[in-house]
Amino acid sequence: MRITRIESHVCHARMRNWIFVRVLTDQDGLYGWGEATLEWHTRGVVAAIEDLSQLVVGEDPTRVEHIWQMMHRQHFWHGNGIERATAIAGIDLALWDILGKVANLPCSRLWGGPVRDHVRTYCHLGGGNMKEFYETPVENASRFADLAREAVEEGFTAFKSMAVPSTLPIEGLRPIRAAEKAVAAMRDAVGDGIDIMVDCHARPSPAMGLQFAKALEPFGLYFLEEPCWPEAREGLAAIAAAVRTPIATGERVTNLADFRDLFMARSCSICQLDITHCGGLTGARRIAALAEAWRIALAPHNPQGPVSTAASLEFGFSQPSYIICETVHEDVPWRADVVSEGFTVEKKGRVVRPNTRPGLGIEINENEVRKHPFQQEILKRVFLSDGSVGDW
Ligand SMILES: [Mg+2]
Repeated sequence: MRITRIESHVCHARMRNWIFVRVLTDQDGLYGWGEATLEWHTRGVVAAIEDLSQLVVGEDPTRVEHIWQMMHRQHFWHGNGIERATAIAGIDLALWDILGKVANLPCSRLWGGPVRDHVRTYCHLGGGNMKEFYETPVENASRFADLAREAVEEGFTAFKSMAVPSTLPIEGLRPIRAAEKAVAAMRDAVGDGIDIMVDCHARPSPAMGLQFAKALEPFGLYFLEEPCWPEAREGLAAIAAAVRTPIATGERVTNLADFRDLFMARSCSICQLDITHCGGLTGARRIAALAEAWRIALAPHNPQGPVSTAASLEFGFSQPSYIICETVHEDVPWRADVVSEGFTVEKKGRVVRPNTRPGLGIEINENEVRKHPFQQEILKRVFLSDGSVGDW
């Protein structure tokens, strides 16, 4: 069996351009779907997929590890950069989908069979509405409470919010108090039985991240995400050591060695590897094995499209340390027209029952994808109160 062609199908989904990758074979009707979505880098990833195709076309698609090694190591430059790592992931996911179809088994069964009965999911406040999630001012605590109630009414037992504002490297009490009030309002609104996550988007400096972490500690967050840049490993470690709140990070880390350094620094309790940015399921499985040595939990980053979600769920059914899957369910109203999925979501509790179809269990409707061609993502230029550059 040989790979004959690799296609990229770009589908504009409001905040992101989903990049679906299809790997075709010389066997009639046998192909696999992957995803390589990377917001604000769509053209670069599509071109990187084209570059990688030269290495991969003509190879046996069932030699997934061998092809991963080729994509990661050949042509001199290793595949650690974000665009190349994302392109590798798109192709890798499609190869696992093919292998599952050849074996007539869901991917999780290729890796030893399901390790749990269901996977828990969480949502973003607003369900995927970019404005609600990213642009609700932290000072508007009552809006945070309303959105938290809505998430629970939709069946979720856990949700994530961006209740920490952008700050200069050092600021006084005002932003700290605003974050405290927003989180207090959410806790009051939903009670202790619901898990609340706060994503700092790596905006704070380590010193400000520590202050936010201390201030939010009494509210019993499920986790505090990216309280400072992932590059600031010692800063993360200092925050993690100072509070009992579990610290999560990893969505911007693309390779095994950088995860090793994060873990060795005691930077986090939760690893948020992104399957579409860390070399696909082949890369993710290695990172998961490494995390297990530190007993670090897995909660993959997954705000992307439906193939990323299917891959994250297959991963979740195969990984004992996996705790929860990030989902956005209302980013675009036509999500269900573009994809058919093999798993089922229970509305009450928003838990997912296993995929029963081979591979990743998804089918992409190309006619629907064509209705949503590439559009430039909305530019996000962030400047702080004094005009200096901030992180988005
Ligand atoms: Mg995040």
